[in-house]
Amino acid sequence: MRSNDPAARIGAAAAGETRVCYRCGLTRPVDQYIHKSNGTLYDLCSPCLSEILATGHRTGPRQRLVHTVTDRTCYLCLRVLPNEQFTQRTTGSFFSACKACNTNVFAHRRRARLLQVGGTFTTAEWLELLARHPRCPGPCGRRWEDIPLPPRRKSVVTRDHVVPVSKGGRNVIGNIQPLCYSCNSRKGDREG
Ligand SMILES: [Zn+2]
Ligand SMILES: [Zn+2]
Ligand SMILES: [Zn+2]
Repeated sequence: MRSNDPAARIGAAAAGETRVCYRCGLTRPVDQYIHKSNGTLYDLCSPCLSEILATGHRTGPRQRLVHTVTDRTCYLCLRVLPNEQFTQRTTGSFFSACKACNTNVFAHRRRARLLQVGGTFTTAEWLELLARHPRCPGPCGRRWEDIPLPPRRKSVVTRDHVVPVSKGGRNVIGNIQPLCYSCNSRKGDREG
């Protein structure tokens, strides 16, 4: 039964399926996309991801990004997109990468950095840690079940690195704490 298949339940793609890359617009077999840790796929194909990572997405003086009142150019995929496809800060300014690139490229960079710092922990270790924390240990102190689930999130709990990876923290269970998404984003270090 397909519905009992764990891969199907989390929306993972089956072999032989294809998907469209948002950057190059090509329909490619799913094996040309990287899997997220939850089994689903990124929307950016591996060739495009390598290209973005390889160019260092530095835009020279000759390659000025065009921003108009209604549209902006994403500095990573170089698509010209309406403003609503960029996250806007509370100060009114926009992120330089489009929402799709924020999800697809930054998540991958973070994954690569985690691989680089080494260390790993199992799902069992994570669940055990979570069981010892009935509520968020961050400033909000809320019980997990009292935290509203925002749209587009699967869980209110994030795996926070106590010492951020960007500051030399390792990806081991002793350096992990569960933190709600809002306390985590308030920590400031988004690379957590
Ligand atoms: Zn592509
Ligand atoms: Zn983009
Ligand atoms: Zn919290």
